[in-house]
Amino acid sequence: MKFKFTSNSSDIFNANQVPEKRVDQQSWNDWTWQLRQSYKKKSDFEQYFKLSDFEALAFDEKIFNIRTTPYYAQLADRFQPNDPIRKILMPHSSELNMGTQAQLDPLGERKKKNNPTSRVIHRYSDRALFLVTDICSVYCRYCTRKHFTGHDLAFIKEEEFNAAIDYFKSKNGLREIILSGGDPLTLSDALLEKVLKALREIDHIEIIRIGSRMPVVTPMRITESLVKMIKKYKPVYLMTHFNHPKEITQEAALALEMCVDHGIPVMNQMVLLNGVNNHPAIVQALSRRLLYLRVKPYYMFQCDPSQGTDHLRTTIEDSLNIQKELWGHLSGLAMPQLSLDIPDGGGKAYYVPQFETQATQEKRTFEGWDGVKAEYINPPSQKITMPADIDQYISEWNEIKNNKL
Ligand code: SF4
Repeated sequence: MKFKFTSNSSDIFNANQVPEKRVDQQSWNDWTWQLRQSYKKKSDFEQYFKLSDFEALAFDEKIFNIRTTPYYAQLADRFQPNDPIRKILMPHSSELNMGTQAQLDPLGERKKKNNPTSRVIHRYSDRALFLVTDICSVYCRYCTRKHFTGHDLAFIKEEEFNAAIDYFKSKNGLREIILSGGDPLTLSDALLEKVLKALREIDHIEIIRIGSRMPVVTPMRITESLVKMIKKYKPVYLMTHFNHPKEITQEAALALEMCVDHGIPVMNQMVLLNGVNNHPAIVQALSRRLLYLRVKPYYMFQCDPSQGTDHLRTTIEDSLNIQKELWGHLSGLAMPQLSLDIPDGGGKAYYVPQFETQATQEKRTFEGWDGVKAEYINPPSQKITMPADIDQYISEWNEIKNNKL
């Protein structure tokens, strides 16, 4: 089956604009134009949206920064506040309620032990986050990193950049660096290359990941010159963040295909959001379309208890039900891993449906997703032996395990 992705072209924008605001196709397809023309103020949003009272009220209050590209705004319904994309990008007076847990830093990233330099977050032994900018082209209302994102300070200062690179060099057990922020793809090609080059010169760094929502909210950012530049520093993975099938337009599909065609593997991390995508039919539609475009659905996150997000969060029970419904109907390749970040920086907790009904020393009993009941019986008093070549791998393993200590 081939999916038909709709186009978000300048025609739609122009149809909604007074003549002096109309834009040519070339400007529309220029990602810097999209950033320059971002909606930030109430009056910007009113150019396109008919604001509800709840939305209008939010603009008058001090809440998490507000911003969207015209491209992403056009994916939302102009008149319907309940539109899923609109719920992601549009502020709402519900944000004034700080929430049940109301954490500014739900992942504990700013704890001293996890934050060795101002732009490095190091929570796991083999990988660390490098916050290269605090700017995003859209400020998602459920954002988990409100403690850092959205201050519009742009690229890091030279001394912060050097401190981060020195830290990565000093930690021999580090294997992966995740470029994050903010959105690293809001940087120019030249600045991004400066980061990639510095990281590639560190011998023990194997994988670089770029976490970006630009393929979703500003897909014209993915240009041939960008992907050719990134390819030079392979292996680089692109971790993107589609939440809803409506976000996969022709433009987004082209951007994803360009990355994969240039040898950049793409993985998707979605967040389950109340009234946006919290139904198995929507998760499967998103996952199948992404997989068709050679993007691996990777995580399905429980929304973090970030300040002012209660109205967008689902319950864990709702998320488990969605996962259970999908099981058996969505292939392993298309199935994202349901995961929750334990508040206060406790790391990830994975959820899988419970199929085991009984466990003894000899055997375990199961009831599968479609009701099949069966046992797995252990081999008789098996002596567990180590692989004969274990010595070849043990020092590498110890280097990684001891890296964060
Ligand atoms: S793109 Fe990511 S960091 Fe930026 S606002 Fe959205 S969720 Fe937060």
